[in-house]
Amino acid sequence: MDYQKLKARFQTPFYLYDFDRIKERFGALKNAFKARKSQIFYALKANSNLSLLQMLARLDSGFDCVSIGEVKRALRAGARPYKIIFSGVGKSEEELELALKFEILYINVESEAEMQLLESVAKRLGKRARISIRVNPNVDAKTHPYIATGLEENKFGVELETAKKMYLHAFRAEFLEPVGVHFHIGSQLLDTGPIHEAAGIVAQLVREFNALGLGLKFFDIGGGLGVSYEREAEPDLYAYAQGVLSQLSGLDLTINLEPGRFLVAGAGELVCSVLYEKTNKNKRFMVLDGAMNDLIRPSLYAAYHEVLLPYNEGEESPCDVVGGICESGDFFARDRRLPKSQSGDIVVVKNAGAYGFAMSSNYNTRPRICELALEGGAVRLIRRRESFEDLIALEVEFLSD
Ligand SMILES: *Cc1c(COP(=O)(O)O)cnc(C)c1O
Repeated sequence: MDYQKLKARFQTPFYLYDFDRIKERFGALKNAFKARKSQIFYALKANSNLSLLQMLARLDSGFDCVSIGEVKRALRAGARPYKIIFSGVGKSEEELELALKFEILYINVESEAEMQLLESVAKRLGKRARISIRVNPNVDAKTHPYIATGLEENKFGVELETAKKMYLHAFRAEFLEPVGVHFHIGSQLLDTGPIHEAAGIVAQLVREFNALGLGLKFFDIGGGLGVSYEREAEPDLYAYAQGVLSQLSGLDLTINLEPGRFLVAGAGELVCSVLYEKTNKNKRFMVLDGAMNDLIRPSLYAAYHEVLLPYNEGEESPCDVVGGICESGDFFARDRRLPKSQSGDIVVVKNAGAYGFAMSSNYNTRPRICELALEGGAVRLIRRRESFEDLIALEVEFLSD
């Protein structure tokens, strides 16, 4: 990749996504599950750029949304309503109403109170709400505590006994139609064993309903597949799929997958320039034009991102790679061995395609940076850099005369 040329054209910092790589990942995952009916619902909170969603919609991807805004994004990108599911622990009444009006495939319900509200909204609209209940199977996903979601101590889903009670009500309810069951136990899982364990627990629940003559159609196994940030081994897709399928013997269910990170993380780079290199005491710092408002994962989860200076050579020494924000937590890497740099040198932060731009902010009144897509060898702009005027556009000014 000729970063210098891209810098001359778009300035730094920018995000660059390799769409062809995303297509490959999508194909590989789809292929791993081809033995059964399955559908991928991309979890767009990982990266919700409209061009990216359009590209995935053309591959026949579905979309897993966690706000009505995301549902609207998926529809705008051309997704059919029956390719959209709506998850999340805190949907508002207005969001539930719109989801019903949009006729999406189903809503993943996360509490008894939500189901009650949904039932009343459905009744008011004279519609039957297709639902799936998010079961919290109480398995340890063995990931960062901020992104583990499948333990009883987490806020997500309902425990097994509650789920049974809710389904028994829902199967009889006039305005509810249970169509699936859902779990999602955490993110960045490099070991898929816990997903298989969860699948086994939830499959047992489906068998109990089947024994009562109550059928479900969708087995939604969430997302959470981990990716390699620090040269870790990524989960084997075939083993992941086989482990799920082996839990479903005797059940005729469509498997729904909700991958986010897996599809996009490795395909994205955050490309920055060095502003200054400096040494305090004996500590070396590289200050970049990008900062934690552009990529917050290192600050938020102590996440590791590989950092490269593609055009610099020579002796390497430990260095903190930081942004210019007034927070000591504003860093991309600490004590990383890197060559010497000069102002203007290009720095690439790797594996930044997931939860990068999507979690970015305007902190310190910094405009959000532009996003570029690489597809078929050509690079194009898919979101322009924000301007100062964009930043203040919604604020009401008090003008004195
Ligand atoms: C965040 C989320 C996902 C995607 O998680 P990844 O780790 O990015 O694959 C899938 N389903 C639900 C319900 C989520 O909240």
